[in-house]
Amino acid sequence: TAHVVILGAGHAGGTAAALLRQYGHEGPITLVGEEPIPPYQRPPLSKAWLKGEADADSLALKPLEFYAEHGIDFRPGVKAVQLKRSDRTVVLSDGSTLAYDVLIIATGARPIALPIPGADLAGVMFLRTAADAEQLKAAVGPGKRLAVVGGGYIGLEVAASGRALGAEVTVLEREPRLLARVACPELSTFFREYHEKHGVTFELGCSVTGFEGEAGRVTGVTLADGRTIACDAAVVGVGAAPNDEIAADAGLETARGVVVDLDARTSDPAVFAIGDVAHRPMPIYDRMFRMESVPNALEQAKQAAAAITGRPRPPGECPWQWSDQYDLKLQIAGYPFDADQIVVRGDPATAKFAVFHLKGSQVQAVEAINAPPEFMMGKQLIANRKPVDPARLADPTISMKEVAA
Ligand code: FAD
Repeated sequence: TAHVVILGAGHAGGTAAALLRQYGHEGPITLVGEEPIPPYQRPPLSKAWLKGEADADSLALKPLEFYAEHGIDFRPGVKAVQLKRSDRTVVLSDGSTLAYDVLIIATGARPIALPIPGADLAGVMFLRTAADAEQLKAAVGPGKRLAVVGGGYIGLEVAASGRALGAEVTVLEREPRLLARVACPELSTFFREYHEKHGVTFELGCSVTGFEGEAGRVTGVTLADGRTIACDAAVVGVGAAPNDEIAADAGLETARGVVVDLDARTSDPAVFAIGDVAHRPMPIYDRMFRMESVPNALEQAKQAAAAITGRPRPPGECPWQWSDQYDLKLQIAGYPFDADQIVVRGDPATAKFAVFHLKGSQVQAVEAINAPPEFMMGKQLIANRKPVDPARLADPTISMKEVAA
């Protein structure tokens, strides 16, 4: 009947609370969340929800009543400000103190801010929370000029949704290509061309030096080459940083994320960390990594809930994630660590193809565009480490089943 306290009521924290009950935990559960609403899904904030194709209620992981009905003391609008491991308590922003037997840190990540002039002007936004998304949605519409700083997945999704809402969209990216941190050049080119076809303008290899404004509101983005890109609103999507300060201050081991083991346990056996905030082992690649995806949040919520309730450790999963832009369904499995060869299967011109990242004959990652079989079989190949013949993989007349046989 241990008291489990969960810090952060996001995808990972909310799921862990529900799983603890499902796995038979009978003791008290307290779920502390800085945001004013119960745990919800963030992916639609840049996709279906932003385009107006999903309502706010459909984003919630569970209806608000769920928490009380399952004896989960959900405390919205409260932030954990200090962790005192020596007496197993957490100090909250309302001044109260909460004692725990087991603690789960699920504080997620926050958008990285640009330390440039004008970043605090009205109309310069981030996209992490439902509140951010409301603000963004109110600012985009027919004829509005939207500047997107950062050509990563979230930036590109916002660009696509912005076009769907009739906005004029310019994406500004520091690197010479899109998705530079996460995808191969083939995919970068494909996405740039696809977005251009849909009317998005790109400024690649450009350095954003500031935001200009009038009466406190953004009117443009200034570049190092002296130009100003006029805009009515700007979204900054240049990556996220883990909310791991509370853990680091309490002396837990951190490495750009709270270091955990395969049970999602930190260097303190009474403290777990899950989701975007965790720096976790990846047995498939024999390394540690901090992932930012819903499947990762779910997997680690399962690991922690299983460990806390004395269940066997759940089997490892192949990491995966997705992105929706226009009519494109991108599915990604694995990470291209140490890959030395890229195999493109199918023709990008048909918008139905896959990019495999190989290390020798082993598939490390796959990016599949409108290509579910390539994603599914690729994911299996990554998980079971079975070698493949790159030439056969590149030949779409040979089915994925045969390639993997
Ligand atoms: P979060 O969901 O961020 O939850 C953390 C919560 O903790 C937040 O509510 C925060 O306010 C709260 N918190 C922080 N500090 C404290 C504190 N000290 N005390 C109390 N509460 C605190 N992933 C995919 O797999 N596919 C996608 O297509 C995809 N699209 C995305 C689109 C957008 C716009 C965004 C923002 C993310 C997207 N992601 C996607 C990533 C995915 O949403 C995250 O990986 C996931 O939400 C991580 O869950 P989490 O619980 O670790 O963190």
